[in-house]
Amino acid sequence: MGKVWFVGAGPGAPDMITVRGARLLSEAGAILFTGSLVAETVLQWAPEGCEIADSKSMDLEQVTAWLLERAQRHETVVRLQTGDPTLYGVLAELARPLDEAGIPVGIVSGVSSAMASAAAAGECLTLPEITQTVIFTRLSERTQMPEGESLTALAAHGCTLCIFLSIERIESVAAHLAEAGWAQTAPVVVVHKATWPGEELVLRGTLEDIAARCREAGVERQALILVSPALGARARTSSQPSKLYDPAFPRRFRPAREDGPADADRGADAA
Ligand code: SAH
Repeated sequence: MGKVWFVGAGPGAPDMITVRGARLLSEAGAILFTGSLVAETVLQWAPEGCEIADSKSMDLEQVTAWLLERAQRHETVVRLQTGDPTLYGVLAELARPLDEAGIPVGIVSGVSSAMASAAAAGECLTLPEITQTVIFTRLSERTQMPEGESLTALAAHGCTLCIFLSIERIESVAAHLAEAGWAQTAPVVVVHKATWPGEELVLRGTLEDIAARCREAGVERQALILVSPALGARARTSSQPSKLYDPAFPRRFRPAREDGPADADRGADAA
């Protein structure tokens, strides 16, 4: 019996997969990938004669059946996932029947699109004294977000947000951020197809105009939204005032004011 590996393909460029992931692809007897999300160029690491299938039109049961069946015949079977396989995939659902069948499962990390998007934009997700926390989240869809995880509640922290799976509803993202206290002038970066050769696009805007910029550029899917008081840090000189005092960013746990914080607020933040 073989082993099924859930391998992170990375964000798109074939050389963004890990060395371990590429080695497993090169040893695989069968590879199942998600056509719409994994750049097919990543499959260049697959050996000749390897069985390669696209799961785009399969449902969860069919994917499970495919993996179970291949694991009977091949020593190494790879389920190739976009970015990192532990984020916004169905790893738990797919691994459960394999566990039940006694088939060994391994997971290989990949570079998440959150990291690749920050790098593409030349930005840092954390910045000393400004923000030391990163939240990976998304807008709710048909399924409600778990209690306490609405985008408004999370955005009220004023830290970095990496928002997945939500570009189609960027207007709604902006509305949630505004409700949480982010100013219309707060910078927002959208990265479409980070690292995809020839297709990467970095859009910069503010809460107010980012939706229009996305529409203009035709960016409607496969994009990550970055919101952070750390954005643009490289362009700021050390003599510029700390972003802690910038009214564009919400005070932690209390909304920012469009007209800037009162002196008392400044004191509280500086303390
Ligand atoms: N496991 C993946 C996320 C899968 S969910 C990861 O770690 O990146 C799919 C969402 O990821 C997309 O809706 C988009 O928000 C984001 N995404 C995936 N690849 C991307 C890329 N190359 N550039 C920007 N965003 C990407």
